[in-house]
Amino acid sequence: MPYALALIDFDAGAVVPHDLAAAHLPVEDLTVHRGEGIFETALVTVDPASGAPRVHGADLHFARFRASAQALALPAPPRELFDKAISTVVEATLGDADEFAVRYAMSRGLDSHADAEALRAAGVSTGAHGWVFSASVTAAQKAQRADGIRAVTVDRGYPAYIGESAPWLLVGAKTLSYAVNEAASREARARGADEALFVSHDGVVLEGPNSTLVIRRGDTLLTPDPRAGLLHGTTQRAVFAGAQEEGWKTGYTDLSVEDVLAADGAWMVSSVRTAVPILGLDGTDLPAQSELTARMHAWIRAR
Ligand code: PLP
Repeated sequence: MPYALALIDFDAGAVVPHDLAAAHLPVEDLTVHRGEGIFETALVTVDPASGAPRVHGADLHFARFRASAQALALPAPPRELFDKAISTVVEATLGDADEFAVRYAMSRGLDSHADAEALRAAGVSTGAHGWVFSASVTAAQKAQRADGIRAVTVDRGYPAYIGESAPWLLVGAKTLSYAVNEAASREARARGADEALFVSHDGVVLEGPNSTLVIRRGDTLLTPDPRAGLLHGTTQRAVFAGAQEEGWKTGYTDLSVEDVLAADGAWMVSSVRTAVPILGLDGTDLPAQSELTARMHAWIRAR
């Protein structure tokens, strides 16, 4: 399958298709050494009848991208250029797969030590710039949608609602500094689980390293309040929109680990894996809800 890349030069207002396998990011780029950038990952599905691709939650993703840029004091990302680059990459990727991921990012630009003139002469953009590329949805990611996962709680290391007093922690921004999230997932696997669930230092359940928690309590779906210190998920919002249309109640609230253990069902939801049932937390089984999981998959794919 021909995964693709397009680079976006803001100054030139240009989208340049690029060879995904070739070198394209100068090592002085601030995303490389500082994680000084932001990103989004969206699911693309291909309509089996018409062959038309659909980027799910496109507006919600771009709104969050814009908010992340603001949180890092980056220039506002130009929507038109990103849309053009996303279309370029999606068109180039269309082939056999019925779904894939599209990932876009923006960097603050190059370190001040870079030889900016030489780089510009070589056609490299030295200011803020962006890129878009496609990636596969792996067999393991697809399998989790039906098979579910077992999770363990891990301490996030700060209290809930820390963002209000310490905005420089950038909670709620989707930055390219994901080393902590990756470390939490590794810790979960080292403990024999599939995934981690972050809990604030004072006991408020937050999110997975790459996903939002949703629980069922009776006829209500609940999710942690993003202001408690987590990313506001686009998939969770798709799930809530679909659920509301079918008469479910939905709400944002503070949840404890005991609330999750007592739930009628729990899921980790995110753009690429979509809705993944949590079948165990810290060694305690949670009820499987295959019908509701299937409804969630439908709600997500409808948006
Ligand atoms: N929380 C974190 C930390 C994430 O990285 C992600 C997505 O990657 C999510 C939640 C879920 O967000 P979305 O549903 O928009 O993919």
